[in-house]
Amino acid sequence: MKFARRCRPEDQIPVTGKKVAIIGAGPAGLGAAGELVCYGHEVHVYDMLPEPGGLLIFGIPEFRIPKEGVRKGIRELIDLGVIFHLNTKVGKDIDFEDLVNEFDAVLIATGTWKSRRLKIPGENLKGVYHALEFIVDYHLHKYGYSDKEVKLKNRVIVIGGGLTAVDACYLARDAGAEEIYLFYRRTREFAPAGVREFNKLEENGFKVQELTQPIEFGGDESGTLKYVKAIRMRLGEKDSSGRPKPVPIENSEFTIEASAVLVAAGEIATPPFIDQKYGIEITKWNTIKTDKEYKTTRKGVFAAGDVVSGPSLIGPALASGKKAALAIHKYLQTGQWNWVE
Ligand SMILES: Cc1cc2nc3c(=O)[nH]c(=O)nc-3n(C[C@H](O)[C@H](O)[C@H](O)COP(=O)(O)OP(=O)(O)OC[C@H]3O[C@@H](n4cnc5c(N)ncnc54)[C@H](O)[C@@H]3O)c2cc1C
Repeated sequence: MKFARRCRPEDQIPVTGKKVAIIGAGPAGLGAAGELVCYGHEVHVYDMLPEPGGLLIFGIPEFRIPKEGVRKGIRELIDLGVIFHLNTKVGKDIDFEDLVNEFDAVLIATGTWKSRRLKIPGENLKGVYHALEFIVDYHLHKYGYSDKEVKLKNRVIVIGGGLTAVDACYLARDAGAEEIYLFYRRTREFAPAGVREFNKLEENGFKVQELTQPIEFGGDESGTLKYVKAIRMRLGEKDSSGRPKPVPIENSEFTIEASAVLVAAGEIATPPFIDQKYGIEITKWNTIKTDKEYKTTRKGVFAAGDVVSGPSLIGPALASGKKAALAIHKYLQTGQWNWVE
Protein backbone atom coordinates (compact mmCIF):
# COMPACT_ATOMS: atom_id res chain seq x y z
CA MET A 1 0.00 0.00 0.00
CA LYS A 2 1.45 3.34 -1.05
CA PHE A 3 1.38 6.15 1.52
CA ALA A 4 4.11 8.36 -0.04
CA ARG A 5 3.23 8.95 -3.67
CA ARG A 6 4.98 12.21 -4.29
CA CYS A 7 8.65 11.44 -3.67
CA ARG A 8 11.37 8.80 -3.26
CA PRO A 9 14.32 8.83 -0.83
CA GLU A 10 16.74 9.61 -3.69
CA ASP A 11 14.80 12.76 -4.68
CA GLN A 12 16.08 16.15 -3.55
CA ILE A 13 13.43 16.92 -0.94
CA PRO A 14 13.58 20.54 0.32
CA VAL A 15 14.02 20.99 4.08
CA THR A 16 11.55 23.52 5.47
CA GLY A 17 12.64 23.33 9.13
CA LYS A 18 8.98 22.90 10.16
CA LYS A 19 7.90 20.07 12.44
CA VAL A 20 4.54 18.28 12.31
CA ALA A 21 3.16 15.80 14.86
CA ILE A 22 0.60 13.26 13.69
CA ILE A 23 -1.41 11.41 16.33
CA GLY A 24 -2.54 8.05 14.95
CA ALA A 25 -0.77 5.77 12.45
CA GLY A 26 -3.85 4.47 10.61
CA PRO A 27 -4.48 5.20 6.92
CA ALA A 28 -5.37 8.87 7.63
CA GLY A 29 -2.20 9.52 9.65
CA LEU A 30 0.04 7.54 7.29
CA GLY A 31 -1.45 9.21 4.19
CA ALA A 32 -0.74 12.60 5.74
CA ALA A 33 2.79 11.58 6.77
CA GLY A 34 3.55 10.47 3.19
CA GLU A 35 2.58 13.89 1.84
CA LEU A 36 4.13 16.05 4.57
CA VAL A 37 7.53 14.34 4.44
CA CYS A 38 7.64 14.95 0.68
CA TYR A 39 6.92 18.66 1.24
CA GLY A 40 10.11 18.68 3.32
CA HIS A 41 8.67 18.87 6.84
CA GLU A 42 9.98 16.86 9.80
CA VAL A 43 7.21 14.36 10.54
CA HIS A 44 6.70 12.56 13.86
CA VAL A 45 3.89 9.99 14.13
CA TYR A 46 2.64 8.95 17.59
CA ASP A 47 0.65 5.76 18.08
CA MET A 48 -0.52 3.84 21.14
CA LEU A 49 0.03 0.46 19.43
CA PRO A 50 3.36 -1.39 18.98
CA GLU A 51 3.26 -1.19 15.17
CA PRO A 52 2.01 1.49 12.73
CA GLY A 53 -1.01 0.76 10.51
CA GLY A 54 -4.02 1.24 12.81
CA LEU A 55 -6.96 -0.89 11.71
CA LEU A 56 -5.07 -1.88 8.54
CA ILE A 57 -2.84 -4.06 10.75
CA PHE A 58 -4.81 -4.64 13.96
CA GLY A 59 -8.43 -4.57 12.72
CA ILE A 60 -8.89 -5.89 9.19
CA PRO A 61 -8.07 -9.60 8.77
CA GLU A 62 -5.16 -10.73 6.58
CA PHE A 63 -7.46 -12.29 3.96
CA ARG A 64 -8.91 -8.84 3.18
CA ILE A 65 -5.76 -6.70 3.48
CA PRO A 66 -2.47 -8.58 3.16
CA LYS A 67 -0.20 -7.08 5.81
CA GLU A 68 2.99 -7.29 3.77
CA GLY A 69 1.75 -4.53 1.43
CA VAL A 70 0.89 -2.25 4.36
CA ARG A 71 4.25 -2.90 6.03
CA LYS A 72 6.09 -2.17 2.77
CA GLY A 73 4.33 1.22 2.54
CA ILE A 74 5.32 1.98 6.14
CA ARG A 75 8.96 1.01 5.49
CA GLU A 76 8.96 3.50 2.58
CA LEU A 77 7.81 6.23 4.98
CA ILE A 78 10.63 5.36 7.41
CA ASP A 79 13.14 5.46 4.52
CA LEU A 80 11.85 8.93 3.66
CA GLY A 81 12.54 10.08 7.22
CA VAL A 82 9.18 9.77 9.01
CA ILE A 83 9.83 9.15 12.72
CA PHE A 84 7.45 6.80 14.55
CA HIS A 85 6.89 6.94 18.32
CA LEU A 86 5.09 3.69 19.12
CA ASN A 87 3.47 2.40 22.33
CA THR A 88 2.79 6.06 23.05
CA LYS A 89 -0.75 7.04 23.90
CA VAL A 90 -1.34 10.76 23.64
CA GLY A 91 -3.36 11.86 26.66
CA LYS A 92 -1.69 9.19 28.82
CA ASP A 93 2.01 8.74 28.02
CA ILE A 94 2.42 12.19 26.53
CA ASP A 95 0.40 15.37 26.97
CA PHE A 96 -1.50 16.76 23.98
CA GLU A 97 -0.64 20.35 24.99
CA ASP A 98 3.08 19.49 24.96
CA LEU A 99 2.78 18.36 21.33
CA VAL A 100 0.97 21.55 20.35
CA ASN A 101 3.72 23.61 21.99
CA GLU A 102 6.60 21.59 20.53
CA PHE A 103 5.38 21.30 16.92
CA ASP A 104 4.47 23.84 14.24
CA ALA A 105 1.31 21.88 13.42
CA VAL A 106 -0.51 18.85 14.83
CA LEU A 107 -2.80 16.42 12.99
CA ILE A 108 -5.24 14.29 15.01
CA ALA A 109 -6.03 11.00 13.23
CA THR A 110 -7.01 8.76 16.13
CA GLY A 111 -10.00 6.98 14.55
CA THR A 112 -12.92 5.33 16.36
CA TRP A 113 -11.66 3.03 19.10
CA LYS A 114 -14.56 3.01 21.54
CA SER A 115 -17.25 0.35 21.15
CA ARG A 116 -20.92 1.26 21.49
CA ARG A 117 -22.69 -0.66 24.25
CA LEU A 118 -26.02 -2.43 23.81
CA LYS A 119 -27.19 -1.33 27.28
CA ILE A 120 -28.91 -4.64 28.06
CA PRO A 121 -28.64 -6.78 31.21
CA GLY A 122 -25.59 -9.05 31.45
CA GLU A 123 -23.22 -6.99 29.30
CA ASN A 124 -20.53 -7.26 31.99
CA LEU A 125 -20.56 -11.07 32.17
CA LYS A 126 -17.35 -12.99 31.48
CA GLY A 127 -17.57 -14.15 27.88
CA VAL A 128 -19.21 -10.97 26.55
CA TYR A 129 -16.62 -9.11 24.49
CA HIS A 130 -16.67 -5.96 22.43
CA ALA A 131 -15.85 -7.28 18.97
CA LEU A 132 -13.25 -4.60 18.19
CA GLU A 133 -11.35 -5.35 21.41
CA PHE A 134 -11.46 -9.07 20.58
CA ILE A 135 -10.19 -8.38 17.05
CA VAL A 136 -7.34 -6.12 18.23
CA ASP A 137 -6.32 -8.58 20.98
CA TYR A 138 -6.42 -11.40 18.40
CA HIS A 139 -4.02 -9.51 16.10
CA LEU A 140 -1.73 -8.34 18.95
CA HIS A 141 -1.26 -12.00 19.88
CA LYS A 142 -1.02 -13.19 16.26
CA TYR A 143 1.79 -10.73 15.49
CA GLY A 144 3.69 -11.59 18.68
CA TYR A 145 3.04 -8.39 20.66
CA SER A 146 1.04 -9.98 23.46
CA ASP A 147 0.87 -13.26 25.38
CA LYS A 148 -2.88 -12.84 25.85
CA GLU A 149 -4.53 -15.35 23.53
CA VAL A 150 -8.31 -15.09 23.22
CA LYS A 151 -9.56 -18.65 22.82
CA LEU A 152 -13.17 -19.33 21.93
CA LYS A 153 -15.07 -22.62 21.90
CA ASN A 154 -18.45 -24.19 21.12
CA ARG A 155 -21.16 -21.71 20.10
CA VAL A 156 -20.35 -18.01 19.73
CA ILE A 157 -22.85 -15.30 18.86
CA VAL A 158 -21.73 -12.17 17.03
CA ILE A 159 -24.03 -9.16 17.12
CA GLY A 160 -24.07 -6.43 14.47
CA GLY A 161 -24.33 -5.73 10.76
CA GLY A 162 -21.10 -3.91 9.88
CA LEU A 163 -17.67 -5.03 8.73
CA THR A 164 -16.54 -5.40 12.34
CA ALA A 165 -19.30 -7.95 12.95
CA VAL A 166 -18.55 -9.83 9.72
CA ASP A 167 -14.81 -10.00 10.41
CA ALA A 168 -15.47 -10.99 14.03
CA CYS A 169 -17.28 -14.08 12.66
CA TYR A 170 -14.24 -15.19 10.64
CA LEU A 171 -11.80 -14.46 13.46
CA ALA A 172 -14.02 -16.22 16.02
CA ARG A 173 -13.63 -19.36 13.91
CA ASP A 174 -9.84 -18.90 13.81
CA ALA A 175 -9.94 -18.48 17.61
CA GLY A 176 -11.59 -21.88 18.06
CA ALA A 177 -15.37 -21.35 17.96
CA GLU A 178 -17.18 -24.28 16.33
CA GLU A 179 -20.62 -22.83 15.66
CA ILE A 180 -20.98 -19.11 14.93
CA TYR A 181 -24.23 -17.18 14.68
CA LEU A 182 -24.57 -13.61 13.48
CA PHE A 183 -27.58 -11.75 14.90
CA TYR A 184 -28.58 -8.59 13.03
CA ARG A 185 -31.66 -6.54 13.85
CA ARG A 186 -32.53 -5.52 10.27
CA THR A 187 -32.21 -7.51 7.03
CA ARG A 188 -29.00 -7.76 5.02
CA GLU A 189 -30.24 -5.22 2.45
CA PHE A 190 -29.93 -2.58 5.18
CA ALA A 191 -26.70 -3.85 6.78
CA PRO A 192 -23.65 -1.52 6.61
CA ALA A 193 -21.51 -4.51 5.56
CA GLY A 194 -23.77 -5.12 2.54
CA VAL A 195 -25.64 -8.09 1.09
CA ARG A 196 -22.54 -9.69 -0.47
CA GLU A 197 -20.73 -10.03 2.85
CA PHE A 198 -23.81 -11.59 4.48
CA ASN A 199 -24.19 -14.05 1.59
CA LYS A 200 -20.50 -14.96 1.83
CA LEU A 201 -20.87 -15.65 5.54
CA GLU A 202 -23.64 -18.13 4.80
CA GLU A 203 -21.61 -19.74 2.00
CA ASN A 204 -18.84 -20.23 4.57
CA GLY A 205 -21.07 -21.99 7.08
CA PHE A 206 -21.90 -19.13 9.45
CA LYS A 207 -25.51 -18.99 10.68
CA VAL A 208 -26.96 -15.60 9.84
CA GLN A 209 -30.09 -14.64 11.77
CA GLU A 210 -31.59 -11.45 10.43
CA LEU A 211 -34.32 -9.50 12.24
CA THR A 212 -32.96 -10.72 15.56
CA GLN A 213 -31.92 -8.60 18.52
CA PRO A 214 -30.45 -9.68 21.87
CA ILE A 215 -32.35 -8.39 24.91
CA GLU A 216 -30.39 -10.04 27.72
CA PHE A 217 -27.21 -11.98 28.39
CA GLY A 218 -27.61 -14.56 31.15
CA GLY A 219 -24.89 -16.14 33.25
CA ASP A 220 -24.18 -18.51 36.13
CA GLU A 221 -23.24 -17.72 39.77
CA SER A 222 -19.61 -17.16 38.80
CA GLY A 223 -20.64 -14.37 36.40
CA THR A 224 -19.88 -16.35 33.24
CA LEU A 225 -22.10 -16.10 30.16
CA LYS A 226 -24.38 -19.09 29.60
CA TYR A 227 -27.12 -17.92 27.25
CA VAL A 228 -28.44 -15.09 25.10
CA LYS A 229 -32.07 -14.08 25.21
CA ALA A 230 -33.18 -12.48 21.94
CA ILE A 231 -36.32 -11.28 20.21
CA ARG A 232 -37.41 -11.38 16.58
CA MET A 233 -37.97 -8.07 14.81
CA ARG A 234 -39.93 -6.78 11.83
CA LEU A 235 -39.15 -3.76 9.68
CA GLY A 236 -41.23 -0.67 10.48
CA GLU A 237 -41.30 2.95 9.31
CA LYS A 238 -38.06 4.62 8.18
CA ASP A 239 -35.98 6.12 10.99
CA SER A 240 -33.49 9.03 10.98
CA SER A 241 -30.90 6.83 9.20
CA GLY A 242 -33.30 6.46 6.23
CA ARG A 243 -33.59 2.72 6.88
CA PRO A 244 -36.68 0.91 8.20
CA LYS A 245 -36.73 0.87 11.98
CA PRO A 246 -36.56 -2.63 13.47
CA VAL A 247 -39.62 -3.21 15.67
CA PRO A 248 -39.84 -6.10 18.19
CA ILE A 249 -42.44 -8.78 17.47
CA GLU A 250 -44.49 -9.50 20.58
CA ASN A 251 -44.03 -12.91 22.24
CA SER A 252 -41.18 -13.88 19.89
CA GLU A 253 -38.47 -14.08 22.58
CA PHE A 254 -36.22 -17.12 22.56
CA THR A 255 -33.12 -18.28 24.41
CA ILE A 256 -29.97 -19.81 22.96
CA GLU A 257 -26.96 -21.19 24.81
CA ALA A 258 -23.61 -19.56 24.03
CA SER A 259 -20.07 -19.66 25.40
CA ALA A 260 -19.20 -16.16 24.15
CA VAL A 261 -20.77 -13.12 22.56
CA LEU A 262 -18.95 -10.59 20.39
CA VAL A 263 -20.81 -7.27 20.33
CA ALA A 264 -20.19 -5.14 17.24
CA ALA A 265 -22.85 -2.47 17.70
CA GLY A 266 -20.73 0.31 16.19
CA GLU A 267 -17.68 2.35 17.09
CA ILE A 268 -17.41 5.86 18.49
CA ALA A 269 -14.76 8.46 17.60
CA THR A 270 -11.90 8.74 20.10
CA PRO A 271 -10.11 12.11 20.14
CA PRO A 272 -6.99 12.00 22.35
CA PHE A 273 -8.75 14.05 25.05
CA ILE A 274 -12.24 14.32 26.52
CA ASP A 275 -14.86 17.05 26.20
CA GLN A 276 -13.88 20.34 24.60
CA LYS A 277 -10.50 20.36 26.34
CA TYR A 278 -7.68 22.33 24.68
CA GLY A 279 -10.17 24.58 22.85
CA ILE A 280 -11.02 21.93 20.26
CA GLU A 281 -14.72 21.55 19.53
CA ILE A 282 -16.17 18.05 19.64
CA THR A 283 -19.56 17.23 18.05
CA LYS A 284 -22.42 15.34 19.74
CA TRP A 285 -21.13 12.15 18.04
CA ASN A 286 -17.74 12.68 19.75
CA THR A 287 -16.12 13.42 16.37
CA ILE A 288 -13.80 16.42 15.99
CA LYS A 289 -15.36 19.44 14.32
CA THR A 290 -13.30 20.70 11.37
CA ASP A 291 -13.75 23.10 8.49
CA LYS A 292 -13.41 22.05 4.83
CA GLU A 293 -9.63 22.23 5.16
CA TYR A 294 -9.49 19.88 8.16
CA LYS A 295 -8.78 22.75 10.59
CA THR A 296 -10.09 22.27 14.12
CA THR A 297 -11.23 25.17 16.27
CA ARG A 298 -7.68 25.56 17.62
CA LYS A 299 -4.96 27.28 15.58
CA GLY A 300 -2.31 24.88 14.29
CA VAL A 301 -4.35 21.75 15.03
CA PHE A 302 -5.92 19.72 12.20
CA ALA A 303 -7.91 16.47 12.21
CA ALA A 304 -8.65 13.80 9.57
CA GLY A 305 -9.96 10.27 9.08
CA ASP A 306 -12.60 8.47 11.12
CA VAL A 307 -12.12 10.71 14.17
CA VAL A 308 -13.74 13.43 11.99
CA SER A 309 -16.18 11.41 9.85
CA GLY A 310 -17.09 8.62 12.27
CA PRO A 311 -16.55 5.00 11.15
CA SER A 312 -15.90 4.91 7.39
CA LEU A 313 -13.56 3.07 5.03
CA ILE A 314 -9.86 2.94 4.21
CA GLY A 315 -10.16 4.98 0.98
CA PRO A 316 -11.90 8.03 2.47
CA ALA A 317 -9.64 7.96 5.56
CA LEU A 318 -6.47 7.87 3.45
CA ALA A 319 -7.78 10.59 1.11
CA SER A 320 -8.71 12.88 4.00
CA GLY A 321 -5.24 12.46 5.53
CA LYS A 322 -3.65 13.49 2.24
CA LYS A 323 -5.97 16.51 1.84
CA ALA A 324 -5.31 17.54 5.43
CA ALA A 325 -1.56 17.36 4.70
CA LEU A 326 -2.00 19.81 1.83
CA ALA A 327 -3.90 22.19 4.15
CA ILE A 328 -1.16 21.83 6.81
CA HIS A 329 1.52 22.57 4.21
CA LYS A 330 -0.39 25.70 3.11
CA TYR A 331 -0.71 26.83 6.74
CA LEU A 332 3.00 26.25 7.41
CA GLN A 333 3.91 28.31 4.34
CA THR A 334 1.52 31.23 4.91
CA GLY A 335 0.62 31.16 8.63
CA GLN A 336 -2.96 31.93 7.59
CA TRP A 337 -5.73 30.48 9.74
CA ASN A 338 -9.24 31.23 8.54
CA TRP A 339 -12.27 28.96 8.92
CA VAL A 340 -13.60 27.70 5.54
CA GLU A 341 -17.25 26.53 5.71
C1 LIG B 1 -12.88 -5.00 11.85
C2 LIG B 1 -12.87 -3.92 10.81
C3 LIG B 1 -12.84 -4.27 9.47
C4 LIG B 1 -12.80 -3.28 8.49
N1 LIG B 1 -12.76 -3.67 7.18
C5 LIG B 1 -12.66 -2.73 6.22
C6 LIG B 1 -12.54 -3.11 4.85
O1 LIG B 1 -12.57 -4.31 4.51
N2 LIG B 1 -12.42 -2.12 3.92
C7 LIG B 1 -12.42 -0.79 4.26
O2 LIG B 1 -12.30 0.07 3.38
N3 LIG B 1 -12.54 -0.41 5.55
C8 LIG B 1 -12.65 -1.34 6.54
N4 LIG B 1 -12.76 -0.94 7.85
C9 LIG B 1 -12.74 0.51 8.18
C10 LIG B 1 -11.32 1.11 8.13
O3 LIG B 1 -10.41 0.24 8.76
C11 LIG B 1 -11.31 2.49 8.79
O4 LIG B 1 -12.29 3.31 8.19
C12 LIG B 1 -9.94 3.17 8.69
O5 LIG B 1 -8.92 2.35 9.20
C13 LIG B 1 -9.94 4.51 9.43
O6 LIG B 1 -8.66 5.07 9.34
P1 LIG B 1 -8.11 6.11 10.44
O7 LIG B 1 -6.71 6.38 10.07
O8 LIG B 1 -9.05 7.26 10.54
O9 LIG B 1 -8.20 5.35 11.83
P2 LIG B 1 -7.54 3.99 12.37
O10 LIG B 1 -7.20 3.04 11.31
O11 LIG B 1 -8.47 3.54 13.43
O12 LIG B 1 -6.19 4.47 13.03
C14 LIG B 1 -6.18 5.28 14.18
C15 LIG B 1 -4.85 5.09 14.89
O13 LIG B 1 -4.83 5.99 16.00
C16 LIG B 1 -4.22 5.33 17.11
N5 LIG B 1 -4.66 6.03 18.31
C17 LIG B 1 -5.94 6.16 18.78
N6 LIG B 1 -5.96 6.92 19.88
C18 LIG B 1 -4.66 7.27 20.13
C19 LIG B 1 -4.02 8.07 21.14
N7 LIG B 1 -4.72 8.68 22.11
N8 LIG B 1 -2.68 8.21 21.11
C20 LIG B 1 -1.95 7.60 20.12
N9 LIG B 1 -2.50 6.84 19.15
C21 LIG B 1 -3.84 6.70 19.15
C22 LIG B 1 -4.68 3.89 16.99
O14 LIG B 1 -3.80 3.03 17.65
C23 LIG B 1 -4.66 3.69 15.46
O15 LIG B 1 -3.40 3.19 15.05
C24 LIG B 1 -12.82 -1.90 8.86
C25 LIG B 1 -12.87 -1.54 10.21
C26 LIG B 1 -12.90 -2.53 11.17
C27 LIG B 1 -12.96 -2.14 12.63
